Amino acid sequence: MPSNLEFSKAKMTEKRVRVRFAPSPTGALHIGGVRTALYNYLFARQHGGDLIFRIEDTDSNRFVPGAEEYILKSFKWLGIPFSEGVSFGGDHGPYRQSERRDIYKKYVKVLLDSGKAYIAFDTPQELDNKRKEVPNFQYDASTRMQMRNSLTLSKEETDALIASGAQYVVRFKIEPNENIHVHDLIRGEVVINSSILDDKVLYKSADELPTYHLANIVDDHLMEVSHVIRGEEWLPSAPLHVLLYKAFGWEDTMPEFAHLPLLLKPEGNGKLSKRDGDRLGFPVFPLEWHDPKTGEVSSGYRESGYLPEAVINFLALLGWNPGNDQELMTMEELVRLFNLSHCSKSGAKFDYKKCIWFNHEYIMRKSDVELAELFKPVLQEHGVDATKYSDDYLSKVVGLVKGRVNFVRELWDQTRFFFTAPTDYAEKDVKKRWSADTPRIMGELMDILRNIEDFSSKPSEDIVISWITEKGYHMGNVMNAFRLAVVGECKGPHMFNITELIGKEETLSRIQRAINILH
Ligand code: GLU
Repeated sequence: MPSNLEFSKAKMTEKRVRVRFAPSPTGALHIGGVRTALYNYLFARQHGGDLIFRIEDTDSNRFVPGAEEYILKSFKWLGIPFSEGVSFGGDHGPYRQSERRDIYKKYVKVLLDSGKAYIAFDTPQELDNKRKEVPNFQYDASTRMQMRNSLTLSKEETDALIASGAQYVVRFKIEPNENIHVHDLIRGEVVINSSILDDKVLYKSADELPTYHLANIVDDHLMEVSHVIRGEEWLPSAPLHVLLYKAFGWEDTMPEFAHLPLLLKPEGNGKLSKRDGDRLGFPVFPLEWHDPKTGEVSSGYRESGYLPEAVINFLALLGWNPGNDQELMTMEELVRLFNLSHCSKSGAKFDYKKCIWFNHEYIMRKSDVELAELFKPVLQEHGVDATKYSDDYLSKVVGLVKGRVNFVRELWDQTRFFFTAPTDYAEKDVKKRWSADTPRIMGELMDILRNIEDFSSKPSEDIVISWITEKGYHMGNVMNAFRLAVVGECKGPHMFNITELIGKEETLSRIQRAINILH
């Protein structure tokens, strides 16, 4: 327990938790990005903080129309709301980086004026030549004085070049031989030496836009981001980001970092890729994606029949666990239990079969009424007019078989006989259960059923069973012939639950039809 004094000190320095999800609209949102957003959401909710949705679209070459809408739709489906950002509003906008050019220009100037950055005129051709001339060439402290930039040219020459319309970039002037400490909430202290970094381009005059690094740091600062939670692929950028915060004099408000573990292939080594999904038959995108450039259509979790709750629960456990073996957790439980310090450093295997298991579990947890609602479009697809059936009927039907399916669409195979009478009968069941004597016994059964007043499951079961026993008939043969006539094959839920639902008249007509067809 901290002493009161320590406690109040901690309280005073505690700043509001503000995190962001900052995708670049370069295509469909990868499932790894969904996990990043989810962890940010859980963290924000848990601390009563804010989750910002920022669009990082400063690389116009990679811009893909429709990507932003796709990302927003995905989170809507998944049930991850943002508190501010593109399409959500807020006090720190605009939240699309392409609309913040003037802001970045101002901060580029700050770095230039303080000598922390410089202007470089080297053309792609010149850079290429240099790379050929110097093995492992890197634009840095050891080479910058051999290049064409504002450090080697006079002020007059530099100004004249800019005035003449020459294209330039602004590079970050990284001092060599400095140890940079990145404090990562998952990985601990990561130290790298600044000499391995190159003088990164921060701004390009050609499109008057900053690069990712500058825009990202300026925005995190201006948007008062407290924690940067993102994929491991951004860890190599973190030392540079730390240096940028220092160059601006923003050390005190520098966010905490947490780099999440990679998502790995379901089998073998390496990073999960779209090809793994195509090969093994699972989606890597939340929603179906139509690539506007290639016309290629990629499957999505939604269209493949996954419930959003299942996808969320599955993703939550890819790189984090609650410290025990609990697996099923609702969003509310995740908010309560999530903990960045319980995230693993090592990659998480993308065991997509586990997601199917979660789907089954969440189907089981749905009420029959909810499930019936989800089943209606499937019925329509199979030519059944769902409006002809009451919600009560549909709920009872799905309630009988929900334990047998992993996906809502699979309910059809388990329940088709509740909507259409069988027109043919499984051959091997007929062979086994329908003998010369069966039509006569089925005729008797029809008489028994006709006289049952309360056709609900238990009373009719009692009457039929005592009739079979009294007559000394073979229980298995009679019941299976009965089932064959009603269902079309010897499987399905409890027989008298079926007859209760389809009713006496339909049951009798199905037995009659089987007698006529099978003799
Ligand atoms: N725009 C980057 C992305 O597409 C954001 C990386 C970060 O979170 O800093 O993931």
